[in-house]
Amino acid sequence: MAALPKQKTAKARQGKRRGHLKLTPPTLEDCPQCHSPKLPHHVCPVCGSYAGREVIETKKPKKKTG
Ligand SMILES: [Zn+2]
Repeated sequence: MAALPKQKTAKARQGKRRGHLKLTPPTLEDCPQCHSPKLPHHVCPVCGSYAGREVIETKKPKKKTG
């Protein structure tokens, strides 16, 4: 026989436990360069800018060489 719980878990107790399980949507802010939504304190994935300058190259529609 499988192990069984000694006592019933009341719905209030179950709810208290699951009260910490809620997921929150990520906070988004507008990019000051291209005004697309981006994560705060992150490089913009659209234009690759951070703190007013371009720090990473972004994929732009270019002709592939090879
Ligand atoms: Zn941007």
